[in-house]
Amino acid sequence: MSSRILLAQLSSPADDLASMLSGSSCEVKRATGAAGALRQAFSDAPPDLVLLDVARADAEAIELLRALKARTLPRFVPVLVVSRDEEVAQRVAALRAGADDFLSRPVHALEVVARVAAMLRIQASQDRLHQATTALAALSATDPLTGLHNRRHLQERLAQELSRARRYGGPLSLLLVDLDHFKRVNDGYGHQAGDAALRAVAGILRTTLRTLDVCARFGGEEFAVLMPATDWSGALTVAERLRRRIAAAPLLTAPALREPSAGPVEVRMTASLGAAFMASGAQVGADELVRAADAALYRAKQQGRDATCLAPALARPAAAASAA
Ligand code: GH3
Ligand code: MG
Ligand code: MG
Repeated sequence: MSSRILLAQLSSPADDLASMLSGSSCEVKRATGAAGALRQAFSDAPPDLVLLDVARADAEAIELLRALKARTLPRFVPVLVVSRDEEVAQRVAALRAGADDFLSRPVHALEVVARVAAMLRIQASQDRLHQATTALAALSATDPLTGLHNRRHLQERLAQELSRARRYGGPLSLLLVDLDHFKRVNDGYGHQAGDAALRAVAGILRTTLRTLDVCARFGGEEFAVLMPATDWSGALTVAERLRRRIAAAPLLTAPALREPSAGPVEVRMTASLGAAFMASGAQVGADELVRAADAALYRAKQQGRDATCLAPALARPAAAASAA
């Protein structure tokens, strides 16, 4: 794919940079004036490089340079300033304001093409780095078996959501979902069937929850759901919906290890859930919320499983929490 160059011009130049680049494989788009340049920089097809063509690197040019740099973030889009400016101070000001390179007129076509190519090489390697970093970040936040978020990501989001709720108010709920007698699935149908059951439960979680909710595999056969802006009654409604859906559907069909000749049979499962919530205006720590949900889950198991229990309110007022 050819690189896109935005030729932003604040003045009418003596030489035509666009025609100098016509022999290269770049697609050059021209914009006259600051507003037009900023519009193009923010378009559906943003540039890979900006050639900022100005008479002088004056205040207007520097302001446009800063705005272009800000607008193209977080990508690295090099800006190459071309001006008649001969003064070192002006060139330094432009470089300090974000210019990645500077060419003084009169310019030679071969040098323009070479400098653009050099900048585009750096730009392409920055893009590759950005893509790799993004892919790695996604990978490090994902549970490979189910495709849900992993525990680390949930802990990060929990910390973020707690501080947001503390600052701006609003409740927050956490559900822990643990499959009942899951060992029996592994023992009865094999580890692969167990894995398939975990994926099926992940599918139920995905389709039952809102996109704002953060759903993660918290441990082996345990899942966690973080629900921002959700109070205890909302959390209970979601928990019960999840519990019923998990219990209602056969999660998979697999032959029993002891009787493979009987063919595949439906494997059903139930889950126990513990819900904990932080009321609006309360000050609760992440560990405290997880512990409360875990204790509620333990009670659900003790009550015979296939049940949801709600933790006692953690709705301590801010003053009481800071005194504790
Ligand atoms: P309870 O109702 O008390 O929760 O009983 P349980 O059998 O579900 O609980 P326990 O913690 O005793 O067993 C959990 C089982 O989950 C044991 C472990 O082998 C299984 N498990 C954990 N991770 C995986 C996994 O990734 N795949 C499979 N197939 N099984 C797993
Ligand atoms: Mg279990
Ligand atoms: Mg467990």
